[in-house]
Amino acid sequence: MLCLSQQIFDALRQHGEETYPHECCGVLLGRFEPGINAVEDAIRAGNTRTDSAHNRYHIAPQELVKIQRLGRERGLDIVGFYHSHPDHPAQWSPTDFAEAHWIGCSYVITAVEQGAARQTNSFLLAGTTEDDKRFENQKISVTGQDVPGLPPQSASTGLSAEPGESEPEELPAREASGH
Ligand SMILES: [Zn+2]
Repeated sequence: MLCLSQQIFDALRQHGEETYPHECCGVLLGRFEPGINAVEDAIRAGNTRTDSAHNRYHIAPQELVKIQRLGRERGLDIVGFYHSHPDHPAQWSPTDFAEAHWIGCSYVITAVEQGAARQTNSFLLAGTTEDDKRFENQKISVTGQDVPGLPPQSASTGLSAEPGESEPEELPAREASGH
């Protein structure tokens, strides 16, 4: 499972809208927990691939090293990568698979249609080596959406998290206690 806050989720989707019709890309810093890649921050990376930036993405090695160092200083690992698919589905391509080398990391893809972010999917790079690596569909859990003390809203949508689904009148009276 990929866990991230609504703020980070929105930020990486917005990045794809900003760079449309080109791809965006970035790195997810966080912690590896049992069965969970917990994202703490999303770092934007420049798309250095100018030959066909609309359908390829690339993070320069020196930039990746810099981001990795940045994470280490904060006690965070690189737990994933994200990029956008302008006017293409949020599914990994053969190129995405060939260029994925970080076993155990999440590869997040957002489809951006006509400049608007649509579906966001995550794929876990499973396996042990470059020879048996494979992408597995990975559930995305966006935290911070639920009001404390209330049961979670319907989880049926799973991968997509559209804001504004909760009806304010269904909420009980707020308690005045602070934290
Ligand atoms: Zn791709």
